[in-house]
Amino acid sequence: MASVVPDRLHGRLAALARFGALPGGGVTRPCWSPPHEAARAWLLDEIAGAGLRAWVDPAGNVFGGLGIDTFSGERPVVLTGSHIDTVPEGGMLDGALGVIAGLECVQAIHEAKAAPRRPLIVAAWSDEEGRYGSLFGSRAFCGNLDATRIPDMAAADGERLVDAMARAGFDAGRAPLARAPAGAVAAYVELHIEQGARLEEAGIPIGVVDSIVGVRRARVVFHGQADHAGTTPMARRRDAFLAAAEYALRARDLVVERGGERAVTNVGVAHVHPGVSNIVPGRAELVHEMRCPEADTLEALDGACEGLAREIAAKRGVRAEVRRLSATAPVACAERIQRAVEEAARALGLPSRRLYSAAGHDAQNLALVADAGMIFIPSQGGRSHRVDEASDAAAIERGATVLLRTLLALAA
Ligand SMILES: [Zn+2]
Repeated sequence: MASVVPDRLHGRLAALARFGALPGGGVTRPCWSPPHEAARAWLLDEIAGAGLRAWVDPAGNVFGGLGIDTFSGERPVVLTGSHIDTVPEGGMLDGALGVIAGLECVQAIHEAKAAPRRPLIVAAWSDEEGRYGSLFGSRAFCGNLDATRIPDMAAADGERLVDAMARAGFDAGRAPLARAPAGAVAAYVELHIEQGARLEEAGIPIGVVDSIVGVRRARVVFHGQADHAGTTPMARRRDAFLAAAEYALRARDLVVERGGERAVTNVGVAHVHPGVSNIVPGRAELVHEMRCPEADTLEALDGACEGLAREIAAKRGVRAEVRRLSATAPVACAERIQRAVEEAARALGLPSRRLYSAAGHDAQNLALVADAGMIFIPSQGGRSHRVDEASDAAAIERGATVLLRTLLALAA
């Protein structure tokens, strides 16, 4: 019977965390950066050392296959994995857990000579965190990458994707070739930390993800009138910043009131022009993000927020411009994957609970081409996307063991 080797699992997690490690803890390892490329080389060595086939596709996705080194419609595979890139000042488990545990499971099955009916592959998807474009590698693999946009894709600091990939030895123009043939994936299951506190607070060790939130981002710009901040009477001012400020506060209340318990909203970017204290702001720009696991609710909130921007603009004598930046639809996980995870947990005597994912994941792309699902383990204090992200060693081992059983069931 194949089983997870805890020392090897924790040893590899610690080894991967050294690439891009920060002095005070945590990791900064954006895709295509030197530490990420060093981590990629290390991972390829680990895959090969585990006796698996190692390869990289044109989108930079890393694969480790048991007895297989390509995707084809003739031999549908059972796929697991996650990502090895991180957000700036991120933690050592977001993404890394799913890749390292996936490798551990496939290696354990290989060593046990378990000979499952379907081939098994572990994947590390490139740029999940979206420095240049969110879920880039899995989007390319699933045929969702718009090739015409690649030349314009750039990081927030202006660095272009084509340059970053070239530096890492990749041709960005070839990334769409990573698309897998139809029917190549029979099933996908991804192990991830919850990144929230629901499992920990409920004392439940295993989360069975039933859906993944959709995310909408819009640039909301208020155009007012720049004026002398001393001589212009208050009643005559058309202050773009005050319109933006009112929008940020009221959009938050609107989403809380109408979105039920499962919608969240954030204004994480705000710019005021010309941005000096002695000029009334002539223009204010926000990037407004909303997330919800229900498509209808998300659509309704989106429309309501656009109406809110226009209402505030009319009241304050400014003009509102709302431009959609991105939109991903909420995705449902496959029932048969959820049942397989629940059955694996039950066989191990571990309580599980179904829950939705409040964060985006590569699994949402895989769900468009295959039966896909996710397993969550508790995050200490719900902390994630920060340097002190952590899960108990035992929680990590339980998650990996449930993944192993799930993969064996799906591949049988
Ligand atoms: Zn992640």
